[in-house]
Amino acid sequence: MTKKILILPGDGIGPEIVAEAVKLLDCLRTDFGLAIETEEALVGGAAYDAAGHPLPDQTLALAKTADAVLLGAVGGPKWEPLEIALRPEKGLLGLRSGLGLFANLRPAILYPQLAEASTLKPEVVAGLDIMIVRELTGGIYFGEPRGVETLANGERRGLNSLVYTESEIERICRVAFEIAQKRGRRVCSVDKANVLECTELWREVATRVAGDYPDCELSHMYVDNAAMQLVRAPKQFDVMVTTNMFGDILSDAAAMLTGSIGMLPSASLNADGQGMYEPIHGSAPDIAGQDAANPLATLLSVAMMLRYSLGEPDHADRIEAAVSAVLERGLRTKDIAAPGASAVGTRAMGDAVVDAL
Ligand code: ATP
Ligand code: MG
Repeated sequence: MTKKILILPGDGIGPEIVAEAVKLLDCLRTDFGLAIETEEALVGGAAYDAAGHPLPDQTLALAKTADAVLLGAVGGPKWEPLEIALRPEKGLLGLRSGLGLFANLRPAILYPQLAEASTLKPEVVAGLDIMIVRELTGGIYFGEPRGVETLANGERRGLNSLVYTESEIERICRVAFEIAQKRGRRVCSVDKANVLECTELWREVATRVAGDYPDCELSHMYVDNAAMQLVRAPKQFDVMVTTNMFGDILSDAAAMLTGSIGMLPSASLNADGQGMYEPIHGSAPDIAGQDAANPLATLLSVAMMLRYSLGEPDHADRIEAAVSAVLERGLRTKDIAAPGASAVGTRAMGDAVVDAL
């Protein structure tokens, strides 16, 4: 059956990097017979400009009927004066909650060809391949009660609540174990169970879920130690699973170990395996429209889409191999080029990957 992919270019460099992904999808369709159809819609600042809202009803409806969504990036200085409810980022949050995308997968992979880009010593990061599984629709970002209130004495008090039900913890842990089964079979669950009762429950549920995956090994780590271990000896990790906020912080730290914001893809999945795929970087307004953005994170997001939502792991492998081959040939966009070395543009990089494919 033909799979439907919704393409959301978004803002800033979004349209440029997504155009390269569309070239790649076209190549898979015409040269490899992949049964897909694509449709494009508006989100973010582009949607606000055209329709007065960062997530038009029509876009969300299309996303719900698609098998997968490919997003460029949203946001930029142009829309910063808007009230929060109309900002481009609200479009992204609306897609996450509207599609029920509770599992955020963020790989941190160091391409051997880019080892010099890392902030760490080569022996510490060579071969780095971590998958961070972050819970995306619960935890302290959504817990009630929340807000800023004024106390009887006139002082104000800010309040947010860390809340997880057992079923929310269980389903994200299952995602982590199922991914671990296809990788190194090790899951590290990150919590703060020595201080926060909610994550004491998290630890208990993770341990229970591990019983269903006897081929995998579960370890637990407090988040402060996990942050330290990530920069001290990151290769000890295979899959890490954690709460919304801890995952937000740890995945950014892990990304920087690889030294290249333009290289890292991400996936956000719901219970039906539907997913939204996007590079981890933002809309990079400073380089938009200059054919300077690195499209590889977006192309690698297409690989994740093929693997996790479209049931085409061989095509995913093929794209990843094509990216490696292009790096091996020495092709670099500016963000991953050595200082002073020559660099190619967005389109040339995208074309090179399609050629390698
Ligand atoms: P966010 O949207 O998460 O707030 P941000 O605005 O902090 O993100 P980005 O938009 O990711 O950050 O940009 C951070 C820096 O990285 C900018 O200098 C930008 O030019 C650069 N950058 C981001 N993505 C890419 C890319 N694909 N290729 C090259 N440079 C990039
Ligand atoms: Mg930004």
